[in-house]
Amino acid sequence: MEKIQMDKPLVELDGDEMARVMWALVKEKLICPYVDLRTEYYDLNVKRRDETDDSVTVRAAEAIKRWGVGVKCATITPNAERVKEYGLKKEWRSPNATIREILDGTLFRAPIILRNVVPAVRFWRKPIVVARHAYGDIYSGVGLRFEEAGEAEIVYRSVSGREIRVKLPALKGSGVIQAYHNLDASIESFARASFKYALMNGLDLWFGAKDTISKVYDARFKEVFSRVYEEEFKEEFQRRGLNYEYYLIDDAYSRVMRSEGGFVWATKNYDGDIVSDMVASAFTGSLALMTSELLSPEGYYMAEAAHGTVQRHYYRYLKGEKTSTNPTAIIFAWTRGLKERGKRDRVNELVAFSEALEEAVRRTIEEDRIMTQDVARVAEQPVSMVATTEQFIEAVKRNMEKLSRKKPFDE
Ligand code: NAP
Ligand code: MG
Repeated sequence: MEKIQMDKPLVELDGDEMARVMWALVKEKLICPYVDLRTEYYDLNVKRRDETDDSVTVRAAEAIKRWGVGVKCATITPNAERVKEYGLKKEWRSPNATIREILDGTLFRAPIILRNVVPAVRFWRKPIVVARHAYGDIYSGVGLRFEEAGEAEIVYRSVSGREIRVKLPALKGSGVIQAYHNLDASIESFARASFKYALMNGLDLWFGAKDTISKVYDARFKEVFSRVYEEEFKEEFQRRGLNYEYYLIDDAYSRVMRSEGGFVWATKNYDGDIVSDMVASAFTGSLALMTSELLSPEGYYMAEAAHGTVQRHYYRYLKGEKTSTNPTAIIFAWTRGLKERGKRDRVNELVAFSEALEEAVRRTIEEDRIMTQDVARVAEQPVSMVATTEQFIEAVKRNMEKLSRKKPFDE
């Protein structure tokens, strides 16, 4: 069989620990036998970031701007313990934060749905993709405590010397105050990335806020979403039969629980913090069945697994033990990246290959009922084999061979 040729390279960001081990295995066993893989490779393992004073992370993000599409392995975000463990110069920033900032990207978390892993919410049949705004609100808020009755106001002073003041309600005793902000440009980027992602995936978009109560702040979010939709996306949405819906946030929560899924849920920073973890746990109960995609308003795209470097398993691996670490989300990071590459370059074989590889994973878990321990714990019975990482990848490979014999990827 001839290997699939790529038109342009994918930007590949390698990472750390067990995720790095699985990253190499997935490439060797499941991708390189079928695809003449072209990547622009950046090694983001923590030692390399340390040696380059983290410039490798910045260069990798710039490369994604150049080529449009990247795939990323999980990386260590160093804390004091990690600095000691790896003998680092300092606690480098989270690579994901650096990349998100350079690309001005929004994160989309999507569950990998399997027939034998039943969501905790019985109505859910299709994915609910959570998009979290990652700027401002309480995350860059300021607060103060006061000890007696008094008064408070917010004073805004512009660069040109304009002043606006608003008073808080009378403070009748001791208490607390918090103030926070957001920027129109950031809200707009978030809205644009959300609409773009929904279009790319043929999904409706929901956005929820509390504009009835928060008549300035949340109302601004609602306005921006509505304007970006009307001016830039409405026509395309209508042509594709897709919908944009604004709901009051409490209504949004309850509709999500009653829905069958199949939409992108754009959330303000705090809602997203909470519901991304809740939706993930309710869908699959395993972080290894969750992908994470970054999309910028300009259309830069990066796919990764939602989980981290799986440090505990890595220590066992280093001792020579066989671990049952799940490579599913890493496989899907590759398939999503390759699929996006294929779509943009009109290399249909690459799109077909990505879909086949996802199907091979599904058949392994749903039909062969071969799975790693994290999935075996949450799957419906029967489970025919609790596999090590290598055994699982071999089983996926067998399904891949069957699929590629039945229908070569050039169709
Ligand atoms: P983690 O790597 O996601 O692992 C947490 C636990 O979840 C594991 O110990 C394991 O549970 C389970 N798990 C996660 N992925 C799994 C998989 N593929 N297969 C089976 N089980 C899996 O999170 P962490 O331990 O908090 O963080 C470790 C390192 O990853 C940290 O240095 C952190 O900075 C980094 N991190 C990176 C990213 C990223 O690059 N996007 C994201 C998160 C964390 P059991 O041990 O119970 O089996
Ligand atoms: Mg959270």
